[in-house]
Amino acid sequence: MSTNYNPDNIFAKILRKEIPCTKIYEDDHVLCFEDISRAAPLHWLIIPKGAYINFTDFTSKASPEEVAKFFGSVNHIIQEHNLNGQGFRMVTNNGANGGQSVFHFHMHILSGTKMKERHEK
Ligand code: 5GP
Repeated sequence: MSTNYNPDNIFAKILRKEIPCTKIYEDDHVLCFEDISRAAPLHWLIIPKGAYINFTDFTSKASPEEVAKFFGSVNHIIQEHNLNGQGFRMVTNNGANGGQSVFHFHMHILSGTKMKERHEK
């Protein structure tokens, strides 16, 4: 895993609007957009606007307020779209061995089908 945040990663480019995304939700702290390669009928990515490599980088370097605002926005998105009622899976891959391929922290939200018991994305 790289130890420095690479500002040329694809999600940083999406945040800078250098490449497009199908936006679901945006506020001052997060951007939520459709995953380009869906693994479920609903497959969204939620990313903080700050430059963090992954979950551990985010939770160890971001301020408690930033962490709280990120998860507050995640909850807002879940409530707005009634994902709690439908059921959903929330996943974050941390590090190359965790299956991470884009090194800007992101949560996957998958819904719209009965998820397999295995922790697949
Ligand atoms: P990871 O493997 O790091 O957990 O997840 C990265 C996700 O980003 C993958 O599910 C992949 O399909 C998605 N992805 C990669 N490139 C793009 C892109 O250019 N646009 C969007 N919307 N998603 C992308």
